[in-house]
Amino acid sequence: MQPTDDPPTSTPRPPSVDALARSLRSTGLPQPLLVDVARRVIAERRVEDAAAEAEAVRRRLLQPVINGTGVLLHTNLGRAPLGYTAAATPTNLELRLADGRRGSRSDHVATLFARLVDADAALVVNNCSAALLLVLGAIAAGRGVAVSRGELVEIGGGFRVPEVMTQSGALLVEVGTTNRTRRADFERAVSTAGGDLAAVLKVHQSNYRIVGFTESVEVPDLVGLGVPVIADIGSGLLDAACPWLDGPPPSWLDGEPAARQTLAAGADLVLFSGDKLLGGPQAGIIAGRADLVAACAAHPLARALRPGGLVLGALQEVALAYLDRSAGNLPFWHMATLTVDELRARAGALGAGVPVDLAAVPGGGTLPGVEIPSAGVRLRGDHLDALRLRPPGARPIIARVRDGHTEIDLRTVDAADDGELGEALRELPA
Ligand SMILES: *Cc1c(COP(=O)(O)O)cnc(C)c1O
Repeated sequence: MQPTDDPPTSTPRPPSVDALARSLRSTGLPQPLLVDVARRVIAERRVEDAAAEAEAVRRRLLQPVINGTGVLLHTNLGRAPLGYTAAATPTNLELRLADGRRGSRSDHVATLFARLVDADAALVVNNCSAALLLVLGAIAAGRGVAVSRGELVEIGGGFRVPEVMTQSGALLVEVGTTNRTRRADFERAVSTAGGDLAAVLKVHQSNYRIVGFTESVEVPDLVGLGVPVIADIGSGLLDAACPWLDGPPPSWLDGEPAARQTLAAGADLVLFSGDKLLGGPQAGIIAGRADLVAACAAHPLARALRPGGLVLGALQEVALAYLDRSAGNLPFWHMATLTVDELRARAGALGAGVPVDLAAVPGGGTLPGVEIPSAGVRLRGDHLDALRLRPPGARPIIARVRDGHTEIDLRTVDAADDGELGEALRELPA
């Protein structure tokens, strides 16, 4: 046999899975995940990628980020930011301290919300979609619910009113047209259905507007049809007067339905999210007539849709803040009401980028087309990847690019993070 020039072992022996996994420990990931990474890169003969693969695994974990997008309720960033710490202790989640008997997890937080919106009763579920599903299932299964054709909405993430209605067992009775619906359309639906119509449903057009030759029926005009009026207002603005703010309600809230006023206008039930304009954790609140709320609580789905003690604890703090009118300090209302001058001053002090005036938006599928005057900094070029893919231990910064410039809106950045943000921006390649 002819000798060849090739050295007999041109490739070094791959490291052991165990040794490679141990070498990745500085990522802070648990050993089994590092072993998975090591096995994969060894099998695919790309041991040199091990550190990058481990980093990719770490990036997939839930983690804090800095929101520089100017979208206050950014759905991809968890909507309303809220801090909450709870001790590892038992609570009276389902115990009535007054008499030691079994209570309901609706007793505490839901009661506070009923008080806040001046309702007879309230119930808390996991989100507003769950609230609508439960309400329809509890009071309209097998019967009709009249909805304007202009309000058969799809909210982000595949929440479509007609499909939720099907799942609940309620039968959709479409009323009016896409652009125009009148009270007479609802009257006709009620008389045609006879006793088979269980309710009328008003769905807030949260994330779109129909403009031009339009007409819609507001809650006061749905009252007196002989069936309950359910209003899905979505956003969770508690009171149009915003008594928790020092000044008047911000003008960008004009026209947004509020829970208290919707009930006062005659709705029998109002449904809203916890993590939109309420500024709380993800939750859905059902408030209104005691018998209808009781029917929801008694429905078999209620248990499947109920939140846990952590969410209820966070939501209770939010409710108490509204009751003592300190809700202006909730992170959402704080960032929503910062003055442009404050933001301009922070932009100037950042020491990176060019200070500019910007337009923030409420986001979270609320108030389409509405802009909130804001300020931040602009940098030449697209730095989105560099800001998002920061080294381990540094929080990802989420920004936006417009006209070839990276923009960081400071309205959605906690002022305590300005130092870290400025440093990260200064480190970007020019
Ligand atoms: C956002 C929204 C929902 C869905 O609320 P989630 O809490 O996200 O489930 C339902 N209805 C309306 C009108 C909304 O705006």
